[in-house]
Amino acid sequence: MDCQSGASGVNGLIPILTRHRKVEEKEMESFPVLKEKTLKESLFQQRNLNVAAISTIHPRASEVSGEDVPDGCFPSSSKDSDEEESSEKVGNSIFYVDSQQESPSDENRGQLNMLSAAYESLDYDTCVNAAWLDEERTKGYTFVVKKDVARWLVVLVTAVLTALVGCCIDITIESLSKFKYTWLKTYTDYGVEHGVLIIPYLLWVALNIGPTLVAGYLGSYVEPVAAGSGIPQVKCYLNGVKVPRVVRIKTLVSKAVGVTMSVLGGLAVGKEGPMIHSGAVIAAGVSQGKTTSFKYDFGIFEYFREDHEKRDFVSAGAAAGVAAAFGAPVGGVLFSLEEGASFWNQALTWRVFFGAMMSAFTLNLVLSTYNGVPGKLTYNGLLNFGKFEDLTYEIWEFIPFLLMGVMGGLLGALYNFINFKLTQLRMRYITRPWQKVAEAILVASTTASVAFLMIYGLHDCRKIEDEASRSDRYPIQMYCNDGEESAVAAIWFQTPEKSVRSLFHDPSKSFEWLTLSVFFGCYFLLACWTYGLGIPSGLFIPTLLCGAAWGRLTGKLMTLLFPGQSWLNEGKYALVGAGAMLGGVVRMTISLTVILMECVGNITFGLPLMIVLMVAKWVGDFFNEGLYDIHIQMQGVPIMAWDAPPLSNNIYASEVLNRPVTTLRTVEKVSRIVEILKSCTYNGFPVVDSIPTEEEARNFKSYGTLRGLILRSQLTVLLKHKVFNENAHVWESSKVDIRLFRLSYPRYFTLQEVDLTEEDLECTIDLRPFHNPSPYSVVSCTPLPRMFNLFRALGLRHLVVVNDSREVVGMVTRKDLVKYRVWKHRGQMGLEELVIYDNVA
Ligand code: ATP
Ligand code: MG
Repeated sequence: MDCQSGASGVNGLIPILTRHRKVEEKEMESFPVLKEKTLKESLFQQRNLNVAAISTIHPRASEVSGEDVPDGCFPSSSKDSDEEESSEKVGNSIFYVDSQQESPSDENRGQLNMLSAAYESLDYDTCVNAAWLDEERTKGYTFVVKKDVARWLVVLVTAVLTALVGCCIDITIESLSKFKYTWLKTYTDYGVEHGVLIIPYLLWVALNIGPTLVAGYLGSYVEPVAAGSGIPQVKCYLNGVKVPRVVRIKTLVSKAVGVTMSVLGGLAVGKEGPMIHSGAVIAAGVSQGKTTSFKYDFGIFEYFREDHEKRDFVSAGAAAGVAAAFGAPVGGVLFSLEEGASFWNQALTWRVFFGAMMSAFTLNLVLSTYNGVPGKLTYNGLLNFGKFEDLTYEIWEFIPFLLMGVMGGLLGALYNFINFKLTQLRMRYITRPWQKVAEAILVASTTASVAFLMIYGLHDCRKIEDEASRSDRYPIQMYCNDGEESAVAAIWFQTPEKSVRSLFHDPSKSFEWLTLSVFFGCYFLLACWTYGLGIPSGLFIPTLLCGAAWGRLTGKLMTLLFPGQSWLNEGKYALVGAGAMLGGVVRMTISLTVILMECVGNITFGLPLMIVLMVAKWVGDFFNEGLYDIHIQMQGVPIMAWDAPPLSNNIYASEVLNRPVTTLRTVEKVSRIVEILKSCTYNGFPVVDSIPTEEEARNFKSYGTLRGLILRSQLTVLLKHKVFNENAHVWESSKVDIRLFRLSYPRYFTLQEVDLTEEDLECTIDLRPFHNPSPYSVVSCTPLPRMFNLFRALGLRHLVVVNDSREVVGMVTRKDLVKYRVWKHRGQMGLEELVIYDNVA
């Protein structure tokens, strides 16, 4: 728990409201600005925003008195006496008993209105301290050029490695699934012939369970962060949230092996989402020149061991992952831009694009060579939509496309709702690793059973037409005539990617109405159940497959309505359905359109795809959020939205800041630093000239003149290496420079790892060469959107609030801002205050 009073939470709203109102009544006559506030509040009310949440923002809002609020800001009451009573003194700072709750009760787990304090932020702001300046001064332009060349090199290596991981996953899946389906075909034919269908059924269940067991073990026991698609985690990372262990090699291995096994286990999953995560991990690993998992340091690229450098490489890695997964380099760049990076510059765009291109090219080269056509470069990505013969459309077809967009939005919202409820149940009741593995096994056997029942129960026969394509097809005759195959088995006896391709390209009338309807119903439910299991799994393919099924049904309906039209092509409608469904579930816009366009390889069809995705997003957004966002919210990740809440210009820094502030002196005693690090969880401390007494702090509402900001990580490094004034003779000779901090990045020491004697505790540290002497700071009357933009655009972690004399009056972190979230539901919107827990999992 923080050592400071935390969020009030929902329960605290009523007393705060009353308190706030009392203050207003008291000060109304003497302070004209308050009238203005009342006016603004009513404005808020008119616009259907939740005024209660705003006017009662925080108990701390009422702690700021008029003295330090310049004209134009809203003064509030002085600190409440009950809060004063709950304070205790540690060193020179006042700490409050935290109102933050430890973790939600079982029945509250999995709600969308919670934040977890366990997630820390990344620090994208460079700490330009004396040590950093020293490096800049001594190394000069040669170093700048070297760093720049190294950046290109890292991106190139990342791209090549990402593509190679993709190739390994693809080739393993191809080879092993060949065995699986050949066996299944042999035993199914045998079973049909001898009337013992139980044998192929049991074999199928066993062949599904085996790989799923491995995937479940990796995703539940070995590395839980490798479970799922990884896109939400990468999105959070790029947004500035430190997701523990997300970019480790162990995660990459679990992810790559796990997703291969999940696909082989016949589950409704794809390997594309995990490729994005894999690219991100590879980028983080290569750029750091060391592995934390294997505890090995190659001693290279030390200068990239900073959050903002690493983030840039991670966005390049994610783009390379998209490029390899979909053969979509431009889509990859746009994905990184849309989903992640808050900070973007031209040079970075160009480098990311280079990485994405290289990744797509390497994958193409390796797969073409593997498939015996070296140099032909026909394998664009892991997901290949195949070549559409005819993708022209008539202008009036926009009407069915629009309707399909609506349908995609509705089905996507339903998918997200069902998955949300299931995930909620999982978070409450399926918490142990063995339970997660057991659930995965249940899903794997249910998938096999459903598939088997469908093949057995639905009589849909079609001619085996294309002899050439038989090498990767396993035609099952079942009860069809000679020369015919079961169309249902054709969908199930292949990996989901190939099923998508079949639905796009198989000739008209390849599938019956009933087959497609039952397949869609079953696969939709299975996919809903599968996403969120404790296994690595991608969401794109199952969603595309569901959409392709109902899209093809729409195509059949169109053929029925307009018989004999040359432009009618069931595959085209399957493609539109797939796009609509995917858009309805994930709600991405530009990147998804471009990814699909690049997959299809047809620019003219970009417009229908864009329209369908846009409509699907709008319709889906009417009901709920995208699936990735839902999962992020359920985990309580403090992710920053693109924009500040609307109509929030009348919320000021003075209302969101946290105080009293725990500060350190420029020259501080070791014992006090240790005491503070022990009793607080804060990661940043303003450095001030001198710390006022408790009495002074209370009277003047300030905590000393701001001189800089120092991070917990920097303090632990200083303590660990005993950079004390009293032993200057020891460390000065060995030169304490920026490398000292970089070498322990990203896992800095904990206090337990710091060995200090009684004598050490009496020493002092001069923080001035190490703190950030120019931290971002704002005055109390800064409106919320301005602070929000600072955090969003600069990737800030701490923002110090100062008064006119540059004295510290409060602290603002990203959690203070993301706590206020805008909700939108069925045409209504409002502002809610999230409850902060120590941990929501
Ligand atoms: P992060 O966890 O994002 O790495 P942090 O630990 O420094 O950063 P938070 O966990 O976001 O900060 O802080 C929780 C609350 O404590 C916030 O309301 C924030 O304003 C406040 N806070 C952070 N640092 C200080 C500090 N030095 N003194 C007083 N309050 C602080
Ligand atoms: Mg914290």
